[in-house]
Amino acid sequence: MKKEDFNDGLLGFLDASPTPFHATQNMVGMFKNAGFKELNEVQKWELKAGEKYFVTRNDSSIIAFTYPKNKNYLMVGSHTDSPNLKLKPNPIIKEHGVVKFGVESYGGLLLNPWFDRDLSLAGRINYLNHQGELESKLINVKKKIAIIPSLAIHLDDKANKDKTVNKQTDLCPILSTNDDFEFDMFLRWQLESVGVQNIKEIYASELSFYDTQNASYVGLHDDFIASSRLDNLLSCYVGMLSICSIDNDKPMLFIASDHEEVGSASTSGAAGTFLENTLRRMFPDYEAYVKMTRSSLMISADNAHAIHPNFSTKHDSNHAPHINKGVVIKVNANQRYASNTETMAQFMKIAQEVGEPIQQFVTRSDMGCGSTIGPITATKIGINILDVGLPTYAMHSIRELAGKDDAYSLYMILLGFKN
Ligand code: ZN
Repeated sequence: MKKEDFNDGLLGFLDASPTPFHATQNMVGMFKNAGFKELNEVQKWELKAGEKYFVTRNDSSIIAFTYPKNKNYLMVGSHTDSPNLKLKPNPIIKEHGVVKFGVESYGGLLLNPWFDRDLSLAGRINYLNHQGELESKLINVKKKIAIIPSLAIHLDDKANKDKTVNKQTDLCPILSTNDDFEFDMFLRWQLESVGVQNIKEIYASELSFYDTQNASYVGLHDDFIASSRLDNLLSCYVGMLSICSIDNDKPMLFIASDHEEVGSASTSGAAGTFLENTLRRMFPDYEAYVKMTRSSLMISADNAHAIHPNFSTKHDSNHAPHINKGVVIKVNANQRYASNTETMAQFMKIAQEVGEPIQQFVTRSDMGCGSTIGPITATKIGINILDVGLPTYAMHSIRELAGKDDAYSLYMILLGFKN
């Protein structure tokens, strides 16, 4: 696949995946097209050598794997979730001439970039049908239905100096001046618009706001890719395409987990049992299971902080990645990243063989360090892990910025593994 086609596909995937549910649904479609067979966690598995499979949990996490005779797996780990504003269960607030939504912030989001954006809503609705059965459906409103207007500078003379944002009071998106709006009717319309007619009662919904501005190339030579949710749909996309591009006889596993941005502790998060349960069913014999985990390698792929040209002192100058200069290996002495010299060497050897550059990141010693699913998976499963990232500006903003070369570079390295 050429880099241009790869990047065009990435923009489409970003736009079509406003929530972890939609990202997972899109990956399901991709895996089905590529010949992967769907597994269901609540049914018996009868895996056949030479086939390839995928399984989802909570509609928001996914694992895909090949199943050849050779069992030294190359695994790629990523996450489907991104910081956002989520609707509260009873969200409607009617005051001061408008209808607005109460929201809860999810993950460590940068709050200021959410002002003055044309917002829409997407997520999952759970309802009862007329036969008394529970069902769920994903919805994506797409229309620009809400906005969080800034407070004018005339009313806030400290706006450019000491701006703080109160998550409870300052961030409610407004959606109408007409106060006959009913939330239940709104959800019902959304379900009907995607063909669901058999609705007796709507019980629950998990809906997130997102920016309706599409992902795009930016820069004199289209140097950058600007989008919401680059962290970490960028790595989901690379992992998904990698496992779809390799032969069935190459052992590879891809996992994209939900809830990384809030610590991964959930049934569908990396601290849950999803990966372990799947691996144990792939390797029912305990001896074979342990041998596989100890002979395999996981590349935990997430984003990395590129050195910001306007805030360069925030980086250690010897470990300051640049955009479009290659995949970043992330190291932390305190194990916030799971890389070790063995896994670094394995990755560097392949990168050198396929002619792709690599960079290294260590956070400043006087600053805290983020983390990834890497250390959690290393702890839970006992697999050797390398934490890598694609250099990014504005991580956790509603519009993040990455380079046009780096995701493709990671893709080429992953295809270069010959396990
Ligand atoms: Zn991330």
